[in-house]
Amino acid sequence: MSDLGLDELGDLDDGGQYAAGWMHEGAGFEEDDDGEEGEEDEGEEQARDEAVAVVNEAHLDDLVEEEDEESEDLPVVSRQRKTGRTQSAQGQWDPIIENVSLEALTEKMQTIARVELSSALEWGSGIRKPTMGFNSKGVARRELRCPFRGPANCNCPALLRVTEHEEDGSWTLERKRGAPHADHTQSNKKRGLPKHIACNVTSPTKMKLPAAKLKQVVREKFGAVSTDTLKQITSVRRRKKMKEQDQIVPRDQRSTHGGLQLWVDAHSRQALESKGTFGPHTAYVCGEPRLDSETGLITIAYSTENLLLNGYRQGQFGLPSILQVDCTHRLVLEGHLCMLFGTVDVAQHFHAIGYGLCSSEDEYTHSHVFRCLKKEMERLVAERGAAGASI
Ligand SMILES: [Zn+2]
Repeated sequence: MSDLGLDELGDLDDGGQYAAGWMHEGAGFEEDDDGEEGEEDEGEEQARDEAVAVVNEAHLDDLVEEEDEESEDLPVVSRQRKTGRTQSAQGQWDPIIENVSLEALTEKMQTIARVELSSALEWGSGIRKPTMGFNSKGVARRELRCPFRGPANCNCPALLRVTEHEEDGSWTLERKRGAPHADHTQSNKKRGLPKHIACNVTSPTKMKLPAAKLKQVVREKFGAVSTDTLKQITSVRRRKKMKEQDQIVPRDQRSTHGGLQLWVDAHSRQALESKGTFGPHTAYVCGEPRLDSETGLITIAYSTENLLLNGYRQGQFGLPSILQVDCTHRLVLEGHLCMLFGTVDVAQHFHAIGYGLCSSEDEYTHSHVFRCLKKEMERLVAERGAAGASI
């Protein structure tokens, strides 16, 4: 309705929707439309039509003005929009911790997850996709819900809200009021493993257990379980294990030099630094790794800054440097030998310096890993010495 001519205005008293909308605002015309029409004579009806026309003209100006403001949505309804009602955030969320650093917030959330979610490790993501950045009030918010949500589990309504404040960069954690956890052991799943059992048998400590021991633990914890459930437990654990392995080397690249090269590239010092995950305890590839796809020979040395410095620290005390080296089979995913490089202090305690990955335990491998670790350690000591940092 961008332009409203007089012809259209003439139709307005026919009881159409425009007239109905205007009647609502006009004075006392609704009553005339009631069931009393039979008693009215023609004269009265004519008078009413004229009156409506007058009212219509009186509203014409209003209409034109309103059209300027809202070019659509006729008739104009005076009722307040539902979305216009302000809902106070206060009183709906109970603060757990307010205005703390990100580290304190993360630690608190881990504690809450451990206590409330038992075997599940973290809170789920929010119902709504969070908008990025800060809103007009200078906060960025995200809602986290209990992973035992949905009709398949126990419809747990528990909700947390994380708020980041723009002005001081602090964080606040709140809990939805009146939404306690449901009984997580209830399962409405029609097929598959109940979530509380699935979470329990795939926790990091349970993943380390051998199958027979795990079966015993499950029976102690959940009572008797059927053969089907035991099969489901096995497959859930297998899937989880495969997922973890795929994160290290993609499945299609497994047992190939390409996959190994991928791992080496992803764990070089430069790659880890650019990813922002490098620290004194981050394992990275030291020196130049040898990956020969033709001969199938592989030698990679890797360590962390802190472990490398063990070699230097040992040399600072009366004893001459003593190195211990040994290889272990069947430790790594790709099946290579794992070579441990270490030293012993005055109190005869062993300290690891670094590790080597190799395809064969020969002289070249030993010297290559030793050279890589030694060079990296010397570089590190020189760098830290020049920067005046602790060694
Ligand atoms: Zn819950």
